[in-house]
Amino acid sequence: MEAMSKKPPMPEPSAKVFYMLGCLECGDPDRVLLMSFASPAERGHWGSEHIKATGHDRWIVIDQPDGILDSLREWRSRARAAG
Ligand SMILES: [Zn+2]
Repeated sequence: MEAMSKKPPMPEPSAKVFYMLGCLECGDPDRVLLMSFASPAERGHWGSEHIKATGHDRWIVIDQPDGILDSLREWRSRARAAG
């Protein structure tokens, strides 16, 4: 008899990270536009091009794991439910 039907292995949860970058000298400093990049290298490349083009060199840099926004939303809605 052949092997019993086996479920295919579950894919590993992706350790996806968004590499965020915001220029503190573009636009309104209280509403910094954050951009996300697929890799630190891409982010670094964009940053160095931006410095060359504008001379801006003050940044917000965040490595944000995928799912953290969902966690925040959940936490907030729980806090609201608790009053
Ligand atoms: Zn800028």
